[in-house]
Amino acid sequence: MCETLINSGAYVTCIDNFASGQKANIQSLMDNERFRFIEHNISTPLPIDTPLDYVFHMASRASPFEFEHYPIQILKANTMGVLVALGIAKKHHARFVYTSTSEVYGNPDIVPTPETYHGNVNPIGPRGCYDEAKRCGEAYVIAFRRQHHLNTRIARIFNTYGPRIRTDGIYGRVIPRFIDQALTGKTLTVFGDGSQTRSFTYVTDQIEGLLRLAALDAAEGQVINIGNVNEITVLELAKKVIALTGSHSSLSFHPLPEDDPLRRRPDVTRAKKILGWQPKASLDTGLARTIEWIRSVS
Ligand code: UDP
Repeated sequence: MCETLINSGAYVTCIDNFASGQKANIQSLMDNERFRFIEHNISTPLPIDTPLDYVFHMASRASPFEFEHYPIQILKANTMGVLVALGIAKKHHARFVYTSTSEVYGNPDIVPTPETYHGNVNPIGPRGCYDEAKRCGEAYVIAFRRQHHLNTRIARIFNTYGPRIRTDGIYGRVIPRFIDQALTGKTLTVFGDGSQTRSFTYVTDQIEGLLRLAALDAAEGQVINIGNVNEITVLELAKKVIALTGSHSSLSFHPLPEDDPLRRRPDVTRAKKILGWQPKASLDTGLARTIEWIRSVS
């Protein structure tokens, strides 16, 4: 996101505490005179005096493996952190974009899931810290819009992947984990019978969706799903990764984590109509680029 904005001529202030982001991803921007970096945990107040036109809240650990280890940080990033970021936007009369998640739908009864669906979420389950925090974050954003007339936009992001995604340890989401396992000859760890589905969005498509959401006047006050409609089972994904990497790895099956949503596919009618957005990269293309990148850094 920072790189895309800098390349388009914008001035960018990036705030990160590297809870899940990595310094290497912004290293090439550090010497750019239009890029400023502040190492800070957004859950605590931060005075920013230089003028801002847009504020994006994209902070939060998002890997299910981390929900068990950092539930309080995750809750804070999406509640207190959203409050701090909203305060910064209010001070500068800036537009506010919140990156929420498909997780606000929980295990949905309606698939493809439209933004009007209110969710089927377990607040005290292992995903509650993330799902409920994001739901609370959305409520904060709408409260600032109602009470302070802040110009706001909410993106509900569906599983996003691509180069620079973390592969290591508990940070790893299913795509980098499967690629890493396939490239190192380990078994690919399929949870459950692998019949659960996800709809994966390539990183550059996601960025384009977020920038359209931020820039277009018609998106003011909107909540919009940003995700690819191509739904795939986890088992099919594992087989695809083995084929694309040319790996000799086999599959191993493990218990399905509690509250793991069975299906996830967005209804993108709003994104198409209001943002004129639809994803360009196919899963095969996106996976090939991600595999190439993971190979290059391993
Ligand atoms: N998954 C899997 N094996 C893994 C990691 C994940 O089968 O080693 C499954 C997981 O159970 C879920 C899907 O892949 O159904 C996507 O998992 P991810 O952690 O990427 O994020 P989620 O979409 O669950 O938030």
